[in-house]
Amino acid sequence: MKALVYDGPSSISWREVPDPSILAPTDAIVRIETTTICGTDLHILKGDVPTVEAGRILGHEGVGIVTEIGAAVAGIAVGDQVIISCISACGTCGYCLDGMYSHCLADEGSSGIGWILGHLIDGTQAEYVRVPFAGTSLHRVPEGVTAEDAAMISDILPTGYEIGVRYGAVEPGDVVAVIGAGPVGLAAMTTAALYGPSRVIAVDIDANRVEQAKRFGASDGVLSSDADWKDQVLALTDGLGVDVAIEAVGVPATWDMCLAIVRPGGHVANVGVHGKPVSFPLETAWIQNLTITTGLVNTDTSRMLIKLLAQGRLAVNGFISHHFALDDILSAYDTFGRAAETKALKVILTA
Ligand code: NAD
Ligand code: ZN
Ligand code: ZN
Repeated sequence: MKALVYDGPSSISWREVPDPSILAPTDAIVRIETTTICGTDLHILKGDVPTVEAGRILGHEGVGIVTEIGAAVAGIAVGDQVIISCISACGTCGYCLDGMYSHCLADEGSSGIGWILGHLIDGTQAEYVRVPFAGTSLHRVPEGVTAEDAAMISDILPTGYEIGVRYGAVEPGDVVAVIGAGPVGLAAMTTAALYGPSRVIAVDIDANRVEQAKRFGASDGVLSSDADWKDQVLALTDGLGVDVAIEAVGVPATWDMCLAIVRPGGHVANVGVHGKPVSFPLETAWIQNLTITTGLVNTDTSRMLIKLLAQGRLAVNGFISHHFALDDILSAYDTFGRAAETKALKVILTA
């Protein structure tokens, strides 16, 4: 088969690799219909995720058709159209039983890390993928939902919702700022609306993305390159700062921005994958009664989000900005990597 192989920082190629096969009785093989590229893949290309080794097939999102299952797979059958979760969960370890699939203790990839696809084992930017723990890591695509919309459930919707909105503890009436209006930040804005915030402020360096954010429930937008960006945000609050600041970029500057705008007693929910240390000035922050959260998506809310998706309650088709054929994935990387010029949001690859 053909797959997108990572050969080290800034080096990827679309090339012939061996077909995947069933290695454990809980595995399934899925023929990819639709996959996409995540901001995390861009971090991998930058060298921010050194646990990804050269030779790895990237990708942790996608929808496809099950072509083969291991003897112990329950609930999924050959021929099913399925959403591949970015987290592989054995379903039986202590963390899985607690719903914290992100730290699944099973022996695939690395015990204690649930994100293994396109990270520690070969991923979904390929014609076929081996999915471990298929019974607990695949979800059937509901009737009436397109494959490309369903692919938004693999990662961005649960990530924005769980690590942004739920960890940030958004409440009715809150002023929420989301720093980073990429697909993950937009997913946080869309799902924050489920809680009735009074304002959702999109903050990005890219004017197009700030503008696009209005389609995902942002009530206001602030361009972070404006010298007075902070005053603009504070002017949208009672002057004391936002209740919840969600970081959805993954660089020190945007972490600092969250600390600059959160009110005393507020929440900072870090979603971004960081490759460099950030500073946390505890000597001034200790007195602010802040709650700081961070983490890897659990995907324990995927089934709930699928229900909302099937009912048309999530504005998902707006996420998709570009379509490419799967074997043109290098062009898709180029387009997604230059989002400010290309106006890309989610780029969809179709086999
Ligand atoms: P993306 O690259 O498409 O979006 C990032 C956005 O940040 C862009 O719109 C960009 O213009 C903006 N930005 C960059 N520098 C900025 C700055 N200095 N000030 C303001 N805005 C700036 O990425 P994405 O797919 O939306 O993912 C967002 C983040 O979420 C990434 O760090 C990704 O790795 C992370 N992520 C985390 C998890 C998790 O489980 N925690 C899961 C998936 C993705
Ligand atoms: Zn991702
Ligand atoms: Zn587990």
